[in-house]
Amino acid sequence: MTIAENADAGDVVQTLYLSLLGRAADPAARDFLTRFVDLGNPAAVAALGDVFVSSEEFQNSSAAGSSESYVRSVYFNLFDRTPDVGEVELWTGRLDGQGLDRADLPAAVLEAARESDLEAYEAKLFIADYFTDQTERGGYLPDALTRPGLRGNEELYADLNRLDAEYDTLSLEVVGQSLDARPLYAATVGTGEASLLFITQQHGDEPIGTEAAMLFLDFLAGDTDLAQSLRDEVTVTVVPRVNPDGFARWEREVGGERGLVDPRLNNNEVDLNRTYDPAAPFSADVAPESVAVRELLARLDPDFVFDYHGQGNYRDAEGELDTMSVLWPTNTGVDPAIVEASKRAVAAIAASLEGYDYDQLTLYPGADTASIARNGFSLAGTPGVLVEQRFGQEMFELSRGLDVDYSALISALALEGFITMRGLVEAAANGSIETLDPSLAEQIPQRSPSVPYADLYGDDRYGAESLLIA
Ligand SMILES: [Zn+2]
Repeated sequence: MTIAENADAGDVVQTLYLSLLGRAADPAARDFLTRFVDLGNPAAVAALGDVFVSSEEFQNSSAAGSSESYVRSVYFNLFDRTPDVGEVELWTGRLDGQGLDRADLPAAVLEAARESDLEAYEAKLFIADYFTDQTERGGYLPDALTRPGLRGNEELYADLNRLDAEYDTLSLEVVGQSLDARPLYAATVGTGEASLLFITQQHGDEPIGTEAAMLFLDFLAGDTDLAQSLRDEVTVTVVPRVNPDGFARWEREVGGERGLVDPRLNNNEVDLNRTYDPAAPFSADVAPESVAVRELLARLDPDFVFDYHGQGNYRDAEGELDTMSVLWPTNTGVDPAIVEASKRAVAAIAASLEGYDYDQLTLYPGADTASIARNGFSLAGTPGVLVEQRFGQEMFELSRGLDVDYSALISALALEGFITMRGLVEAAANGSIETLDPSLAEQIPQRSPSVPYADLYGDDRYGAESLLIA
């Protein structure tokens, strides 16, 4: 999608806010201006851009400085990245020497953008629309449209402790430690009777669920009316990043080290998501991370447990990527009532994503192995649900030296994960998680065919010559 093709009038207005002011549209202004955008009349759209450029807000921003600072600002606002030297030269030349109006730069940059930038732009447009909608409803807003990159372990622990200090409504405890003696935190919010447990990143190189969980905790502990009402009905515990040692190894690979244990595994080369068969429990010297999860599960005895993972890229016939795949327990030994409960929770996840354009939800083609969390937890008596989000291939390529800033994509996927977490708590609070039709879960389409990373952006592979018009 670009500002010129396939965009609706709302996208045009949101793009002007995003590219020129670096923020989401105000709800009333979006509704008002959208009525004046005539997509068949480029001159009228350009005139609207002039209004933004002459606004006091734009004139008081850094974007109103030199042509170079303006180009940098538009690139960051649209794609969450800095332009390279050639891009700065190209666009400052056109602004200064070839009569390109400042108001026309965003559309020109988008028309010339490579597919990877358009992916970032689409992610930012989704985030901005979320901000505009939530502003209208008095809902939860993250601190910024996007946050840079992924949290390291120390940053994660600092952020968890900051939430603990900031909110009386959140309590933080250390429930175990990894083989490398990193703390495993559990954060609990709410006092309600219904009880949900969320765990993320059992595989060290699958961090999106952890980023989602941090938004989720910030929301649920915070002071929106919705969060306050949910806390009365539900008690939520979150264990973000069950495998911090694996993530630390991924970071070392990004730094150029090789020959390390696969970041997916714990330091003993154990796949933590193959340790939950109640008939064959792992010991703490082999897999202390999953022993901590198992003990927490036994202590809390929650109504449901949700296990957030990452997967590769899967693309349907229309060219849309699956953003998320979900599955209930499939081991034949699981009590059918627990399978039904898990399917209702999956239906609640699907319902939570209605109204958000960004997502493409499919069913994960998972195995019936008893030691997988969703099966093992369910065999032990707690309905378990698997949630997978895309970003696995990107994580691998980054670990092999790919130099791309994925902040916009990470932020949009984290927001999608957050929306499902919030939706599950709402479903537990209003009781729909007990009454939804479980067959709705079976109507979710099967996962799309796998697409290799090299084919992801067609002939516009990162690092290849850019498609910028000269
Ligand atoms: Zn995984």
